[in-house]
Amino acid sequence: MAKGAALTRTRTPNPNPNPKPSPTPGQVAKEAAKEETARARQAQREERARLQEQQKADRLARGGGKRQRCGVCVGCRAGNCGKCSCCLDMPRFGGTGGRRQPCKYRACSQLAVQVSSDWY
Ligand SMILES: [Zn+2]
Ligand SMILES: [Zn+2]
Repeated sequence: MAKGAALTRTRTPNPNPNPKPSPTPGQVAKEAAKEETARARQAQREERARLQEQQKADRLARGGGKRQRCGVCVGCRAGNCGKCSCCLDMPRFGGTGGRRQPCKYRACSQLAVQVSSDWY
């Protein structure tokens, strides 16, 4: 068994039968311009994607995401103070309930923002 036979096989360089004609200066400039446009378009796309990501993050930060109270922090366990403007607006404290805002002192320290259904 001639083990070395496969390794000694020489690879004949394939001479290109149809060598590409070297591009003229005008073609080179056109190619460069095309590349420049593609790059600019790509940058635009990336910028737009970045903006969309930012807007999404902003929406979530403003309360678009689902939030829940942790239920264990001081704010969560505290009762309605009955003195802040939010408490005074609650029907139980003689308010109209139009604001539907939780007591200012009951803000969950884990979330900073309370779910609106927990305003009572
Ligand atoms: Zn209050
Ligand atoms: Zn909490």
